[in-house]
Amino acid sequence: MRLLTFQAADGNPHIGIVRDNDILDLTLWLPLQEPVLVSESFDMVDLIAAPPKVWEQVHAALDANEAAVRGAGALVELEPQRLLAPIYRPRKNVFCVGRNYADHVAESIRAHGETPPSQPQPLQYPAIFTKAPTAVIGPYDDIPFDPAVSEHIDYEGELAVVIGRTGKNIAAADAKEHIFGYMVLNDVTARDIQRRHGNQFFKGKSLDGSCPMGPWIVTADEIPDSNNLELWTRVNGVEKQHDTTANMLLDVSGIIESLSLGMTLEPGDIIATGTPAGVGHARTPPEFLRPGDIVECEIAGIGAIRNRVMLTD
Ligand code: MG
Repeated sequence: MRLLTFQAADGNPHIGIVRDNDILDLTLWLPLQEPVLVSESFDMVDLIAAPPKVWEQVHAALDANEAAVRGAGALVELEPQRLLAPIYRPRKNVFCVGRNYADHVAESIRAHGETPPSQPQPLQYPAIFTKAPTAVIGPYDDIPFDPAVSEHIDYEGELAVVIGRTGKNIAAADAKEHIFGYMVLNDVTARDIQRRHGNQFFKGKSLDGSCPMGPWIVTADEIPDSNNLELWTRVNGVEKQHDTTANMLLDVSGIIESLSLGMTLEPGDIIATGTPAGVGHARTPPEFLRPGDIVECEIAGIGAIRNRVMLTD
């Protein structure tokens, strides 16, 4: 199933489930079915962590009588411009893995004027950094561009994993049980800021609006193998990145094992799993996003997010 968050007619963010070409408004529908367990302030993270009884109602909602759903005012047209990030205000920072595709590692080394090794090196301990919750924007929102802050704004299309079950010291073999679903995420990066703060990626990765995600969460049951997903990034329709998650150095399970070592992962946590080759700053000559550019990140079986770069101050 595809779960999303949208701006409802009452002006508030509601959660919903895609039903045919419409949204079934779960914020309106679930409290009618489970008034004790679900309140109208339920957000996506509450839903992810909800008990099985609530989930039975979510599944039932897909088959609920259309007249009843309409009668409750819970069937809404799916309008892209009203979508927010499915988890629009994460409870903690978005976890990110750096340098997780061999070709991207090589292009990054070359971009620093050095020679990459001829064979990709196995990755046991991935580079891990985070993005601030305030960086999160919706799947079709504008990416702010303030030349006084950075003129080296770059894209990184990535597969994002949403955690569904609390866990610590999760073995790779058990990692799947902790995955709720998947999204598309653009790890937008201010390269100049990233570089000038040395090895601390955080600042250059956390500008407001630098974490578009969505357009929905596709639940894990619909993605049997997250290690074989094709992904693309296009700028103004021109393909810039095209790879498959099969080429990750550390796969999704390995990432969860590494990240959860001694550190609890919780429902609603988001992990961006790294970007393939083709980022702007490693191109010859380097390319950066400019106001008016449209950047689109797509993953087969999940969907696409599309964001315009917008001059701001
Ligand atoms: Mg990245």
